[in-house]
Amino acid sequence: MLQVKEALSKGLVGKKVRVRGWIYRTRSSGGIVFAVLRDSTGIIQVTVKKDAVADQQFESATKAGIESSVIVEGEVAEDKRAPGGYEIRASSFEVIGLAEAFPITEYQSTELLLDLRHLWIRSREQTAVARIKAALVRGGREWFHDNGYVEVNPPIVTGVCPEDSTTLFQLKYFDRIAYLSQSAQFYLESLIYSLEKVYAITPSFRAEKSRTPRHLAEYWHMEMEAAWVDNEENMKVQEELVSAMLRNAVDECPEELKLLKRDPATLKKVEPPFDRMKYEEAMDYLQKKGHAVSWGSDLGAIEERALTLDRELPLFVINYPKELKPFYMKENPEDPRTYKNSDLLAPEGFGEIIGGSERETDNTLIIERLRDKGESLDSYQWYLDLRKYGSVPHSGFGLGLERIATWVCKLEHIRDAIPYPRTVARVYP
Ligand code: ATP
Ligand code: MG
Repeated sequence: MLQVKEALSKGLVGKKVRVRGWIYRTRSSGGIVFAVLRDSTGIIQVTVKKDAVADQQFESATKAGIESSVIVEGEVAEDKRAPGGYEIRASSFEVIGLAEAFPITEYQSTELLLDLRHLWIRSREQTAVARIKAALVRGGREWFHDNGYVEVNPPIVTGVCPEDSTTLFQLKYFDRIAYLSQSAQFYLESLIYSLEKVYAITPSFRAEKSRTPRHLAEYWHMEMEAAWVDNEENMKVQEELVSAMLRNAVDECPEELKLLKRDPATLKKVEPPFDRMKYEEAMDYLQKKGHAVSWGSDLGAIEERALTLDRELPLFVINYPKELKPFYMKENPEDPRTYKNSDLLAPEGFGEIIGGSERETDNTLIIERLRDKGESLDSYQWYLDLRKYGSVPHSGFGLGLERIATWVCKLEHIRDAIPYPRTVARVYP
């Protein structure tokens, strides 16, 4: 048995091969069926002539509609009109699972495609995205491994709120209330006192009420935390990691990128160093471009787009005003209105893919900020303990895997970067 990709190789012309897969499209004219077969590696044309296969096989070949599963045997021939330039001339065409009329046809509404997600994920675009995303993750894992990071498994059910309490999902946990994790950060912080450099890939949950093309309620989060690392070094880790992820996607997925019309040359250019711009400078830049922003304005999709539209490399925006960011960040001694933090914005207008910072080590400041937020300190005692026993400067960040995949795959909406997107409007299928 060969995979379609292998059957498409020049060396096989005139040779007999067996392939299996699903009918991608099919038509018959006269005594001949042209079926295009899809497997996980690609598509290939199969021609089934009436007198070349058993009668009953020809009969089922004419009846088998798209998505029917089949096993085909035949000789490889060159055919310039066929996708990939080769076809298989069938001597056997065995239908394994005859498909009912497939409910997805060429032009469908987005809503219908989401209702039929369990079938739509078979599409070539979705398949390409899944492969590219896997290659990005693998590139990231390898980079972490090569650089001495240990992969760890923080909990998903938690009692703390690292980011924004308005986007917490509550959970009935036996006879208590718990939350679905927004970020593994605090748990990763606790692990650096033994392992020093750790990372985790976990689902994160955000009850995002606004429907935007870059927010999911459930997304995959690649997070790292490291001891003895300041904010500057934290950014170096990010630029190296992102470049390594992209390099692996470009290496492993040239065909998939082509299918999605993403030019790998633009991704290959993404190598360190990335530019750094202070939040304050970003405000100046935006004001000059006519945006109605001032000190304290958050950077939303529109502002991030303006900052990155003309760029080929990602951009770090650093030192945000404290009121815009969570309580655990380290105060910037050079400008105490701000934190030692960074958001990494992907270029071409895309916007944020990573949020990172040096972490506050002064418990007095942390307690003050938690009180200001109206948080009960009870759930955070363990977190405060981390500063009591051998505290060290440390930093970390969180990268949204669907965000980076959306950018790399040039998708219009983040929902297409995950097989089953969870949004305000949808938990089915
Ligand atoms: P944004 O301002 O875009 O909502 P954020 O500041 O809330 O992002 P962080 O809390 O810093 O994001 O989370 C770290 C990373 O996780 C982000 O840089 C982004 O890549 C990703 N991320 C955050 N929220 C979501 C979401 N709702 N869906 C998908 N990815 C997300
Ligand atoms: Mg957010």
